[in-house]
Amino acid sequence: MEYEVIIGLEVHAQLNTTTKIFAESPTEFGASPNTQVSTVCYGLPGALPVLNVSALEKAIQAGLAVGSEITLFTKFDRKNYFYPDLPKGYQISQFDKPICVGGKISFEIKETGETKSIDLTRIHLEEDAGKLMHSADPSIPSSYVDLNRAGTPLIEIVSEPQIRSSEEAYLYLNSLKNILRYIRVSDCNMEEGSLRCDANVSIRPVGSSEFRTRVEIKNLNSFKAVKAAIDYEVEWQKDQYSRGLSFTQMTKLWDSVALKTVPMRTKEMAHDYRYFPDPDLPPISLTKEYVDELQSKLPELPDARKKRFMNELGLPQYDAEVLTSEREIAEYFEETFSKSNDAKKSSNWVKDEILGYVNKENISILEFPIQPERIGEMIALINKGEITGKIAKSIYEEMLTSDKTPSEVVKEKGLGVVRDDKQIEELVVKALSENPDAVDGWKKGRDRVLGSLVGAVMKSSKGKADPKLVNELLLKHLGPLGEKPKS
Ligand code: ADP
Ligand code: MG
Repeated sequence: MEYEVIIGLEVHAQLNTTTKIFAESPTEFGASPNTQVSTVCYGLPGALPVLNVSALEKAIQAGLAVGSEITLFTKFDRKNYFYPDLPKGYQISQFDKPICVGGKISFEIKETGETKSIDLTRIHLEEDAGKLMHSADPSIPSSYVDLNRAGTPLIEIVSEPQIRSSEEAYLYLNSLKNILRYIRVSDCNMEEGSLRCDANVSIRPVGSSEFRTRVEIKNLNSFKAVKAAIDYEVEWQKDQYSRGLSFTQMTKLWDSVALKTVPMRTKEMAHDYRYFPDPDLPPISLTKEYVDELQSKLPELPDARKKRFMNELGLPQYDAEVLTSEREIAEYFEETFSKSNDAKKSSNWVKDEILGYVNKENISILEFPIQPERIGEMIALINKGEITGKIAKSIYEEMLTSDKTPSEVVKEKGLGVVRDDKQIEELVVKALSENPDAVDGWKKGRDRVLGSLVGAVMKSSKGKADPKLVNELLLKHLGPLGEKPKS
């Protein structure tokens, strides 16, 4: 039987506020256990939560960036459950009035060039729980609780079950991560746990329209794991059905060593959590003006920027994609372009030379030693004919280790283009006498040899001769194609 795969993703993204969602404790990653906690994080009786407005604003901006509707009257609810990493016995979350409703995440399917959009159900705000650490030594069977993460602000982004393959899940996650990073509300670092994903997976016979039992997979700590876990789970469900077996709705864990999904518990239903409005936090009433103000602060989003790079700057799609893959790269490119006034050359330098360096050194483009203005000026010098492309490479090398501007390097090292007729003529004569075969070819009508002669002159000038002048002088000395040279 042929099956269709149905996937809905629940993504938790940590908002990059400096303090927690309901307390003033810091959110910094990697601190020693239980050093970033207050009475609120410990959940001590009588400690009162106060909403961090920055978390609220970042959640709204995330919603606006994906086209959600912002709920003007919103509130917080208690989701009750017991676990040692949650001393209060409840998580503050949002139940029936999530801050954002609807919206879309789009991605391009490379093979077909088709753009697919996945509808979002909702985005809500909630607090993270603490972390349990278990002793690796079996002779000391103990567990430790670290509450540093407790109360870190999260947004949960819930998709409709419209994702149809593990590949689409991967593209969806990439696109979502890109947007959240672009608008700087989350760094989406999976290794540090600031982006986590649960995948809900079911399958149904092709042509059927009813949903079947789904399995929720947790513990997915990389995009690769998401893909592998979905693929494994789909095969498992196919196998169950092929043997006439059914299964109940459950939560499974991805075992990244055994590379399989293993049952963890049967799935709780919303009513098990006994949600109710948190009496310690008043509901929030927002105005449309407040939301519009936040909207006006959003930067241009990656998709719009990519289209502008293609339509207004005339860049190929591939260039536009590379340049908009991160906001910092796009900004670097734009600053280069504003100095150079040459979009394609700026793009080539940024995507080949500079990203090549950045990737090799494994640094961010913000740490790249040459500022975009200097690259832009260098390109402008090439276009004005003051330096050649080859000289530009050596100026670039020099700038990597100094703060000099391109013009300063040119002056100091005497790298400017040589336009002295006499000087170049000498080199032309020398090239002709050293390359009798090429001269012979020219006499016989082979025009291709001109290129190699230009190359020879350029080389002997160490790349400094004005190529146009070299061409002219060579033609003067060679005479018309197919005839004896004059000199
Ligand atoms: P819960 O909060 O209990 O996990 P939700 O109703 O919020 O449940 O849904 C969670 C996710 O499950 C959503 O992303 C939704 O799209 C997805 N989902 C719902 N039904 C199915 C199904 N039959 N197959 C796959 N995914 C599903
Ligand atoms: Mg859920």
